[in-house]
Amino acid sequence: ALLGLGTACSNEREGSSSDKGAAAKGFAKDSLIGVALPAKTSENWVLAGDLFTNGLKDAGFKADVQYAGASTTVADQQAQISSMVTKGAKVIVIGATDASQLSTQVAAAKQAGATVIAYDRLITNTPDLDYYIAFDNYKVGQLQGQALIDGMKAKKPKGPWTIELFSGSPDDNNSKVFFDGAMNVLQPLIDKGDIVVGSGQKDIKQTAIQGWKAENAQSRMDGLLTSTYGSKKLDGVLSPNDTLARAIITSVKGAGKPVPVVTGQDSEVESVKSIMAGEQYSTINKDTRKLVAETINMVTSLQKGDKPQINDTKSYNNGSKVIPSYLLPPVIVTKENAAEAYANDPKLSPLTK
Ligand code: BGC
Repeated sequence: ALLGLGTACSNEREGSSSDKGAAAKGFAKDSLIGVALPAKTSENWVLAGDLFTNGLKDAGFKADVQYAGASTTVADQQAQISSMVTKGAKVIVIGATDASQLSTQVAAAKQAGATVIAYDRLITNTPDLDYYIAFDNYKVGQLQGQALIDGMKAKKPKGPWTIELFSGSPDDNNSKVFFDGAMNVLQPLIDKGDIVVGSGQKDIKQTAIQGWKAENAQSRMDGLLTSTYGSKKLDGVLSPNDTLARAIITSVKGAGKPVPVVTGQDSEVESVKSIMAGEQYSTINKDTRKLVAETINMVTSLQKGDKPQINDTKSYNNGSKVIPSYLLPPVIVTKENAAEAYANDPKLSPLTK
């Protein structure tokens, strides 16, 4: 909160013209709030749409919640944001489908006096983005890397362990942050020779899965099994999320191989079931209910003319400036702590009993 205040004061003192119309004045309680979400590439996005629609309405706003289409996502999202600007939205919350393709629309929003909040995924190369709210993505990666090591140690106490690395879609800024966080934990063991990347594919360009699509992960894994794991044993796979984790497991099972330790993220229903059944090793709990609630809190602060609460002013430089951010803590979940982790989640809790 103190950091937030600091930023607020310096912004207000400067009274910069680029900041016009944003927080300082506030706006009418029943104003339109736009929410532009990416394609439904994982359950968290599906949930977020419903929560924003209901939560914004409950808070007294008018809500315009849109998803980018499954195929023409970038053009769709650009058009949706432009339309929100035209309709006079006071705040536009964006889960970017392509981090680097929205600077024109964000500039137009700013020009019209709207405040722009990047939700879950950062928007890059624009000085016009106001805030970023997300779970701590680097921490997510670190937790995934550590879970991979812990899971492999539990099965085979001594290395060297053979692994493969997967990362998310290159157009999502989070993908690199997740990967960097995981490599921060894995690289020292790779350097010591305790962990070996069987295929040698360690560069993010080689590990990336376009569009976060399950079929792309499955076919990459199929290829790796053929090229590298004829006789060699695969101990673990770093998977950046649950959708890809299940695709990787499907590939391995299809090849008739034993399931390695596979990480994940998002606490998707099918993955929580898989974890409880002893197949997928871990996931991450990033409670979408909390992230949406905190985002609506930001909107409410802006409505009142207050500066929203932020807790990070250094982690996210978007190429133009450091974006004031509010970061929530992610939680690692394995079979061991699932019951506790999902205790207050009516959808997931029954799966852990
Ligand atoms: C989100 C992840 C999600 C992925 C694919 C990322 O930006 O942070 O939670 O798994 O998108 O939808």
